[in-house]
Amino acid sequence: MCGIAGYIGKKRQVKFLLQTLQRLEYRGYDSCGFAIKDKSKVGLKKAKGKIKLLKTAARPNAYFTLGIAHTRWATHGVPSFINAHPHHDCKKKIFVVHNGIIENYRGLKAYLKKKHHRFCSDTDTEVIPHL
Ligand code: GLU
Repeated sequence: MCGIAGYIGKKRQVKFLLQTLQRLEYRGYDSCGFAIKDKSKVGLKKAKGKIKLLKTAARPNAYFTLGIAHTRWATHGVPSFINAHPHHDCKKKIFVVHNGIIENYRGLKAYLKKKHHRFCSDTDTEVIPHL
């Protein structure tokens, strides 16, 4: 079962988001990731496997004011870096983490592809930011 953490407010360091995610590790997961925003800059980090891998890829002392983080338990698409959440739209304006299954994602994905949306993953989740 996946875990979701989010933060919005005054400045926090990335290590706060990672520590929060670690508190959800007991639920089980196969990959993880987070997206943060500070002023207009957005950062996205993902890892296949444990949160400690994410820690080494991230700058733990970096600050952010808005962040979402996720531990994934794959249902659609293999456990991998590209299938790890968050997922984003074509313009990288919308970032999404999600727990669960989107039953009608195939139809939605076909519809969006006709509208020239480009997908990066095999997940059902990725239709959400594109929609
Ligand atoms: N269905 C989504 C996926 O496979 C979310 C899985 C989950 O709940 O972690 O990426």
